[in-house]
Amino acid sequence: MKLKTLHDLYVEELKDLYSAEHQILKALPKMAIAASDEQLAKAFTDHLAQTEEQVARLEEIFTKLDVSPRGKTCKAMKGLLEEGKEILDEDADPAVKDAALIAAAQRVEHYEMAGYGCVRTFARLLGEDAAADLLQETLDEEGAADEALTTLAETVINVEAVAPVASL
Ligand code: FE
Ligand code: ZN
Ligand code: FE
Ligand code: FE
Repeated sequence: MKLKTLHDLYVEELKDLYSAEHQILKALPKMAIAASDEQLAKAFTDHLAQTEEQVARLEEIFTKLDVSPRGKTCKAMKGLLEEGKEILDEDADPAVKDAALIAAAQRVEHYEMAGYGCVRTFARLLGEDAAADLLQETLDEEGAADEALTTLAETVINVEAVAPVASL
């Protein structure tokens, strides 16, 4: 059996996140292009830069573990991003499309928050404190990204989507 110990599970979950982050790296530029609101586009490009650092943190952890980060595909992220892609292909009102992009992006952030919360806790239990600190940093960034999207939705995007300019 592959998952004999908590350490095995820790490595598998890290690989899942590594795959998820790589998928997100490819998706965020497309989401930024699809966003009509400037602030939303900026939120996506800002998070792209953070995502690059998050990948680097995972690589640092894998290097210390002397394990390859490859070999796993996060199927959940694949599904979340496929749903997100359906929005990109829609011919929707710009504000409604932005609201839909936020809904899709927040699903992604919440998935990441769940994943990073777990591996951070595993790292602490396993005495991998340096790794736990790195994972907590990423967890905090995902939480902040999620909150920024909520603020943008509540103050601008959803407000515009309620009364789409195009239909007036
Ligand atoms: Fe991330
Ligand atoms: Zn996954
Ligand atoms: Fe559900
Ligand atoms: Fe994220």
